[in-house]
Amino acid sequence: MKCSTGKKQHNSQALAEQALIQNRVQFDASKAIGVYQCEVCDSWHLTSKGQLNPVLKKAMEDGSLQREIDRYQWQQQYR
Ligand SMILES: [Zn+2]
Repeated sequence: MKCSTGKKQHNSQALAEQALIQNRVQFDASKAIGVYQCEVCDSWHLTSKGQLNPVLKKAMEDGSLQREIDRYQWQQQYR
């Protein structure tokens, strides 16, 4: 079922958090900082409001996000 918010749907919090990090990696300008469970469709969406998601925060702090970004950009260059 498609959600009336028009946002992309994720089946679980973990999957939404994965998508949140991928968004950061692939779209530099991504404003999404968190995930939430939707009252309309019961699945999970990304959001730019609220608090920084702890999984994303950790990935920023321990440098794993930057490593993902570097790897992604390297792949883009040699595609
Ligand atoms: Zn929804």
